[in-house]
Amino acid sequence: MKYWKKYSTETINKKIDNALKHVIDFENNKWLGFPVSKLDPNVFFNNIAFLGDAPLLRSYIANPNNIGCHTYGTSEAAFKGAQDLEKEVINVLAADIFKAEPNTFDGYIATGGTEANIQALWIYRNLFMTEYQAKADEIVILSSEDTHYSIPKGSNLLQIDAVKIPVDFDNRIIISSELENIIIQQKSQGKKYFIVVSNMATTMFGSVDDPDVYANLLNKHKCPFKIHIDGAFGGFIYPFSNAESTVSFANPNVSSITIDAHKMLQAPYGTGVFLCRKGLIKHTLTKEAKYVEGLDLTLVGSRSGANAIAVWLILFKYGPNGWFEKINTLLLRTNWLCKQLDTKGIQYFRDPFMNIVTIKSAYVPDDIAHKYGLVSATHDETNQWQKIVVMDHVEIDDLEPFVKELEDFKN
Ligand SMILES: *Cc1c(COP(=O)(O)O)cnc(C)c1O
Repeated sequence: MKYWKKYSTETINKKIDNALKHVIDFENNKWLGFPVSKLDPNVFFNNIAFLGDAPLLRSYIANPNNIGCHTYGTSEAAFKGAQDLEKEVINVLAADIFKAEPNTFDGYIATGGTEANIQALWIYRNLFMTEYQAKADEIVILSSEDTHYSIPKGSNLLQIDAVKIPVDFDNRIIISSELENIIIQQKSQGKKYFIVVSNMATTMFGSVDDPDVYANLLNKHKCPFKIHIDGAFGGFIYPFSNAESTVSFANPNVSSITIDAHKMLQAPYGTGVFLCRKGLIKHTLTKEAKYVEGLDLTLVGSRSGANAIAVWLILFKYGPNGWFEKINTLLLRTNWLCKQLDTKGIQYFRDPFMNIVTIKSAYVPDDIAHKYGLVSATHDETNQWQKIVVMDHVEIDDLEPFVKELEDFKN
């Protein structure tokens, strides 16, 4: 770990104090031209003295704007304190968690997984257009049928086609013969450039795709490609639970990664992360963003510096060992649940490194699914799966009565 540490509460408060000193001080205001102020004191509780031990609330009141990308070029000087903490977060994620060499990556705190995924598609579409003179209809997105709907959303926005690769019904693994057929078929239809979205835990199953399956087949057919990892859900669990994981920047096939902080990390909503290797993010530079110092390379414009600080607070409060312990508690509960289902002969899918258990719906009558708040794969009569996500609040004491009801239903 080069960047990630555990800090005491005292150190954390001091560092936040120091950071907030380096964002616009509206009491001593020389910033006359910015369309921004602290949160409206006529509406929001604003007594900083009372908020001494609530660094996140103090950050919200200070209201920094982390607009732009702070790993590349210059940035707005008015919010430097919050941007510096964001850079520390990007270092921890890219280098310590996803194994990149220091200073070989760019990244920013996006509004969520959807934005980070679309940012990746946008970069690669523009890269193929500028470096290969590709036309939009020569580019295609490949991803599994279990992929999140933000990918079709991005395909629609960016006007590039997307194709879904079938997976095995029981083990949710991409069927490589089908993938190869699709590559051959796409080439014959004029597609030349491939943007791959490989999941590091799908939303419904927690299944993890092997990016090398895509890379090997696309290399075999001599197709230029870029691989983006959608780790919106799995990004804060899989790298800790699977020490042998090749889904990281240590794998040369991987160019960019999405991670959500508002899922596993329990940060406030509006907090995702986009990471990519150096040399890529220039493809989404908006030169017309002239009033922003350092211009803008991101999809969103203004964005919450307080949300970036929230991610910083969580990471540096736990430290790497504290986070590892937390993840292992969730996996222990998930193991307990799977063992119960096994002994009762109830069929489910689970990736052994993930905290999602997706049960075949034949074993879960609707009233039980509803009573325990399970989430179904589709909201119609074609549904075949019901999932449980073992989050912080899902304890064995909550799972036990559920398992008992499933058993009674089965017998
Ligand atoms: C939740 C999720 C997303 C989208 O994230 P938002 O933060 O809701 O925009 C994308 N991909 C996967 C795999 C997800 O689980």
